[in-house]
This record gives sequence, C-alpha cells and structure tokens, in this order.
Amino acid sequence: MSKKYVYMFKEGNGKMRELLGGKGANLAEMTNLGLPVPQGFTISTEACTQYYEDGKQINKDIQAEIMENIDKLEKLVGKKFGDKQNPLLVSVRSGARASMPGMMDTILNLGLNEEVVEVIAAKSGNPRWAWDCYRRFIQMYSDVVMEVGKKYFEQLIDKMKEKKKVTQDVELTADDLKELASQFKAEYKAKIGKDFPTDPKEQLFGAIKAVFRSWDNPRANIYRMDHDIPYSWGTAVNVQMMAFGNMGNDSGTGVAFTRNPATGEKGLMGEFLVNAQGEDVVAGVRTPMPIAQMKEVFPEAFAQFENVCKTLENHYRDMQDMEFTIENKKLYMLQTRNGKRTAAAAIKIACDLIDEKMISEQEALMQIDAKSLDMLLHPTFDTKALKDADKNNVVGKGIAASPGAATGTIVFTAEDAVEEGKKGKKVILVRLETSPEDIEGMKYAQGILTVRGGQTSHAAVVARGMGTCCVSGCGDIKMHEEEKYFELAGKTFREGDALSLDGSTGNIYDCAIKTVPADPNSGYFGRIMSLADKYKALGVRTNADTPSDAKQAAAFGAQGIGLCRTEHMFFDADRIGAFREMICSDTVEEREAALAKIEPMQQADFEGLFEALGGYPVTIRFLDPPLHEFVPTEEADIKALAKAQNKSVKRIHEIIDSLHEFNPMMGHRGCRLTVTYPEIAVMQTKAIIKAAINVKKKHSAWNIVPEIMIPLTGEVKEMKFVKDIVVKTADAEIKAAGVKLKYEVGTMIEIPRAAITADEIATEAEFFCFGTNDLTQMTFGFSRDDAGKFLGAYYGAKIYESDPFARLDQKGVGSLMKTAVELGRKTRPNMHCGICGEHGGDPSSVEFCHNIGLSYVSCSPYRVPIARLAAAQANIKNPRK
Ligand code: PEP
Ligand code: MG
Repeated sequence: MSKKYVYMFKEGNGKMRELLGGKGANLAEMTNLGLPVPQGFTISTEACTQYYEDGKQINKDIQAEIMENIDKLEKLVGKKFGDKQNPLLVSVRSGARASMPGMMDTILNLGLNEEVVEVIAAKSGNPRWAWDCYRRFIQMYSDVVMEVGKKYFEQLIDKMKEKKKVTQDVELTADDLKELASQFKAEYKAKIGKDFPTDPKEQLFGAIKAVFRSWDNPRANIYRMDHDIPYSWGTAVNVQMMAFGNMGNDSGTGVAFTRNPATGEKGLMGEFLVNAQGEDVVAGVRTPMPIAQMKEVFPEAFAQFENVCKTLENHYRDMQDMEFTIENKKLYMLQTRNGKRTAAAAIKIACDLIDEKMISEQEALMQIDAKSLDMLLHPTFDTKALKDADKNNVVGKGIAASPGAATGTIVFTAEDAVEEGKKGKKVILVRLETSPEDIEGMKYAQGILTVRGGQTSHAAVVARGMGTCCVSGCGDIKMHEEEKYFELAGKTFREGDALSLDGSTGNIYDCAIKTVPADPNSGYFGRIMSLADKYKALGVRTNADTPSDAKQAAAFGAQGIGLCRTEHMFFDADRIGAFREMICSDTVEEREAALAKIEPMQQADFEGLFEALGGYPVTIRFLDPPLHEFVPTEEADIKALAKAQNKSVKRIHEIIDSLHEFNPMMGHRGCRLTVTYPEIAVMQTKAIIKAAINVKKKHSAWNIVPEIMIPLTGEVKEMKFVKDIVVKTADAEIKAAGVKLKYEVGTMIEIPRAAITADEIATEAEFFCFGTNDLTQMTFGFSRDDAGKFLGAYYGAKIYESDPFARLDQKGVGSLMKTAVELGRKTRPNMHCGICGEHGGDPSSVEFCHNIGLSYVSCSPYRVPIARLAAAQANIKNPRK
C-alpha cells in the first residue's frame, strides 16, 4: 500500500504530532473531543519532506490524494470549490511539530474569485463582507504565496480611506472594497506579470507550496537553529473550512490563553475583535478589546468558550493558547496548543498545576524549557532609580507584553539594532509594528516598543519567546518611521536618544534607568530549583575564575567549581605585567622571580574560591594561556615590560617575535608549558596547596580536597611528567605545614588522542574533565578562533544544523567522550568524570552527559540553573540506576 500523506481531522489525534504537526494533531484531537471545529484535513510533514526530495514539487500521487480529500471535505460540509450555489472557502495554514513564527502562517478565504464572491454576497445578503473577504484573500495570497509586499496593498487601502474621508477599515463600504479588490488584482498583475489565479485548485496548490517553501526561508532557518529544531522534520499543512469573523457585528475573532502567558496568573486572558478576521488580531493592525468584554457582546458564545477552555486545559493538563471565531454568534475553535510563556509564567504555572493536582512534580519539571530560565536571571530596574523615574520621566504607557527592564538608545530598524548590538551597544527597537523580518534585530535589542498591537501581536509573542522586554501597542506615539523619529508626550525622540521600558507595567521612560540583577532563589523559582535538585542525578558545578563569580554561582546553586582557568586571573591591568614578565623571561631565574610575584596573587584567589564554595569541590586548572592572548602588542606595554625586566625594548621585541606561533591554539599551551617550564607547575601547586591548608584551618568541618587539573594532555607519559612535579611539590608543602590534606591530580580530556588512550591516561589521572571546546576544535579540525567565518556557509548548505561549539556534536565528539569514560573507568572504576567546555550549560548536551554517565557538568554561573533543570529532565527521561 502506498504511503498516506493526507488525513481528515477525524482520522488523526493529538499523539500524531510528528506526522500532522502541532496544529494538525490538536485540530484532530479537538474534533475527537466533540468541540466545534470547522472541518478539514492535514497534509503531513512527510509530504513536505517528499516535496523537497522531489525537487520542490508536489508529486502526482500527493496531488491526487489532496484532491480526494477535497472531495471528502466537500461531501462532509455540503459545499464545493468554485460552486455557484454553495461554494467552499478554506484557510491554509502551516503547522510544524513545534510552532515556528518564522514560517508562513495563514491564508484565509481561499477559493474566492469574481464569480464566487458574487455568489456569497447574494447568499449572505452581505456584499460588504463578501468583498472584504475577497480583497483580504488577494492581499494575503499575493503577500505570502507570491511574495508581493503587503505594503503595496496597505498603501492602496490608505489611499481609499483618504478618498472616502474615513479612518477605519470597517468604515469602507461594499463598493469601496470591490473597487479595492480590482485595484489589488491590477497591482498583482503589475508585479507578477500574470492575472491573479481564479481557479480554486490552482490557488490551493499555490498556497500549499508556499507553506512547504516557507520551511526553508531564512527566518525559519534562524528560528530552527535557535531552538534546536531539525530541518528534517518538515512542516504539515492544514486545510480547513472557513468560519467567518467578519460577517458583521454578530461575528468576531480572538485569541486567548487559559492563564496569563506573561505572569502565569490563573484565569482567561486574551483579546477579541468584533467583525474581523484572525490576522487583524495577530498582526496588530487594529488594537483589540480584552477578552472579558466578549461576555457583554456575545454572552452565549462566551459561556460556551469558557467551557471549552476548561475542557482543553483539563485534557492537555497545561495552559492552552487558542484561536477562535464567532460567526453569526456561533463559536468555532480554530486552534489550541500548549501556550508559549515567559519563564516567570512557566515556573508559576508548573507550581500551580502541581498544587491543583493536575500534574506530578516530574511532569512539572518536564514542562519548563530549561533554556528559558535565563530570562529569570535578567535584570530589573533598581527600586530607587525606578521610583525617581516614575515621578519624573514616564512619557507614555503601552501594553506590558513581555516582562523585564530595558534601558538603551533608540533605533528604528532591525538592521540598525543588529549593527549597534554587534558593537555591544544596548538598544531599544522602536517600530510601528514588528514582523518576522525583524527577528534578528529583536534578538539584539534590550527592549522592543511598538505603536500597534496587543498581547498577542508578533512583537509580544516573539519578545516573550526570547525573554526580551517588550511594551506594545502604545497608540499615543506619532511615528515617523522612515524619518527615524517619533513624538510622544509633546517630545521628539530620535535615533540615539535614551529610552527605558518596563515590560511588566508597560511604562515608557525618557531616560536611562539603572538596572539590577534578578534574585533567583525566592518563590516559584526557588521551588522549581529544589525540585530539580530532587530529581537530578548529575552534579552541577560552575566555571569560575574569580571569587566573585564563584559566589554568584554558589547563589545559583552550583555544587562546586569544575573549572577555574588560572590564566584568567591575570587579565587585570595590575596583574598582567607580572604575567608578561613570566612569559618573556630569558632564564629560569628571571622566570622564578616573576613567578614569585604571581604566587601570592594566585594563593589569595584560590583561598577566595575555596571560601566561596564552602567545602564543595574546587577544580583548579593549571595555566593554559594561548600565548597570543597575553604577549603585549601596544608599544607602551612593551616599554613597561622592558623597564620591569631591565631589558632593552629591542630585546623584548625579539622575545615577542620568537614567541610568534602560526597556530597558537595548537601551540605552546596547556601542559606543554609545564614540560618546558616545570617551575610554573611548582609555583601553582604551592599556591593551591597553601590556600587549601589556610582555608581548612579556618573551616575544619569543610572537606577541602583540591582537585588539580592538567590541561591539554595527550599522552600518559606527559601526564606522569607533570603529575610527578605536582606530587613532589604538594607533599613537601603539606609535610612542611605539618597538616593532613588530601588532593587529587586529574586531567582535562580535550585532545582526541587522550580520549582514545584514556585507559592509559587513567593510570595517572585521578579524574577526567572534558574540555569540549578544544575537543570539538581538535575533532573537527576547525580553529575555535576562525570557525565563525565559515560555519555560516555550512549552516546555509545544511551540512551542520547547529554550532558544534555551542551544542555538542554527539556523534563525533560525543562518541570520543563515551569511549574515554568507558576506558578511563576500566582502569579506575570510581573515577569522577565531568565536562567543563561551553556545552556544560546547553540542555541537549547536558542530557547527553547524563546518558553517558558523567558525574557532573560545569558551566558559567548564569547557566547553572539551566543545567540543574536540564539534568533533572534528563534523569526523569532516562533514570540512572
Ligand atoms: C575546553 O577546551 O573545553 C576548556 C574548557 O578549556 P578552554 O576553553 O580554556 O580551552
Ligand atoms: Mg581547553
């Protein structure tokens, strides 16, 4: 039997997400629940994959199957495509497994042409509605299928309103709309060079192809990379009979959430427009009314809708985001899905659902997107600074669409936001409304302010998804987007002016306001984090180089330091001098003199680290400075170094020249430095051991066992060479102090050779920690410093779908890790193994680390909460024995 590509809604169900996409699966599920869903069918994600395999064509078999289902739909609803009595009109909507704002979303009213529009005008006795549908269809089809910009049509509407001396679209008459429809068609012909298609089947296939095509557009590709969505998934297409919200004042359309997606507050929240179609709400073209007012306008439909909301929330056991239409007072459900939410809302909803006994603790943890916790760690306004600003600087108020605080300078285009953001500037993106083209700019902005649109406008939805502060729908703004200025409260704001936004109140301030970091330990957040700790098996440590980083990480729940990069302790201006003296020494004596300056600095830092972690393990890595990052390049620094070392400037230049490496990332760094200059290892060992002894004296109850980590090992003899120095020095130091102190000497595994000879390496190394930054670099053979320049082309060609330096390459690098753990534990069964490359804070990589039996992950302080939750999720999915 040949493969089935098309499913009527009643043939599917909610579990068929992979095949039918989220929207399709949920439409099927709602149909099965007996809810009022306009009927239709879903063309599967496999049809999309097949479309690409067939060279971007819908093959004959799939075409025939689609037509068979059109037949079935026509019979089911008693209407026919292009019929003179009872014409069928449909919507065509994309629907991937995960909802994706970068893709084509919706075409409404498909099936209309000059004849059909007259039929529905006569039948309904409502020609205004009929022509409104037609002009909308032409506009949407031209925009999303044929890629003729919306703006050309909007300009024609504006001209028509001007001519008719009206301000609102709803004030245009049937004749005006009819006239507009023919202007639109002329515009289409001018741009495309062909007449607007009149055959509903041709329209349908045009729309389906546009959905498939949109799976591969640049916006969708960016979104997919950001959200780890594989290209191979493809999107489904939903073809559904129209329900009309624009039939007059007895009709309307809206979107609603069963709980507030910004705060998590329980209770219906949403927006509603009378006499409108869906895109009016989402596009933010008209500012809608709150859902509560629907009760007054459509009491019966509202009561029914409230019941549907309850049914759906209980059924899915999660907050729902729904779209609906009222056609002549009758309710139709167009979509439901687990609603996107801010991290703050996610943790509140998860806790509330546990308390309401709707879900278990484990289900609650699985419901939260670990990456999104990052949002909770974003700053809020300093209370005092905000109080002052509240008195003097509020210039307007919009809708509080995505919480958080943002301060920056104004930009008016997404391109400018990207450009300024890349320079490290903090910007506020101000737009009339945003559209998917703006996504890249929105990512760089601290905050987003729009003139139009409500809680569910594009700006609001996308900003919430990104965790970016957003104030939308500030209608008081007089915008001059092209000229790059706006007016508000009698003031003119230009590019570069300071602006602050409060995404939790909607307030707009004409000044910069100080922000403070968020508190991650209280309330719902604290509860979720302790639940995460209850269910995780992996330890979570942090990468911290300074006592202040370590304190921050401990506050975020780190259970140790997995990596202290000692070379990073020398970036400060008052320390780098001594470090350079060490690098540029000509003799052992000179080097020892420089090291003597460095040792007390290191010891004090290490004491700070042990103190900050209060007895949790601390791993200190020996110096691993890629030399090019540390040798002086400025003439003034070179002169200062010459003076300090009593050398000529010429001599320093000679030394610098001699240190030049063609490939510093694979050069004289890591343990190679100790092999050439053992005195460096001696100094570092002393500093670590002395620090540990001092802290142990102060805190006798703490179990201080310093972990000394050797970087870049590739051969067991190399490991032994360095370890021997460490052991000799440490033992002498401990003996001299007359104390007892345990310590461990382990290695980073960051060279493929070390991974595949891990059984040998483990005869010396007492622990392993995967340096997956270098391990990725060395496995792929791309330089960490240069890969950014060409990886873009690899994503474009779909050779790689994500940055291997951010998301662990499980197949290649991961298999080296797995091998190393297995071999290492053959030699030393209980050895602890961790990871401290950047991947330690990436949820999918954390899951992999759990699955291969690592003891802990270590990541930067701000990612510790993410790693804790990801570790719990990994253990819930695949419990460790
Ligand atoms: C690594 O290589 O993954 C690592 C943690 O070390 P660094 O980034 O300092 O080279
Ligand atoms: Mg490394």
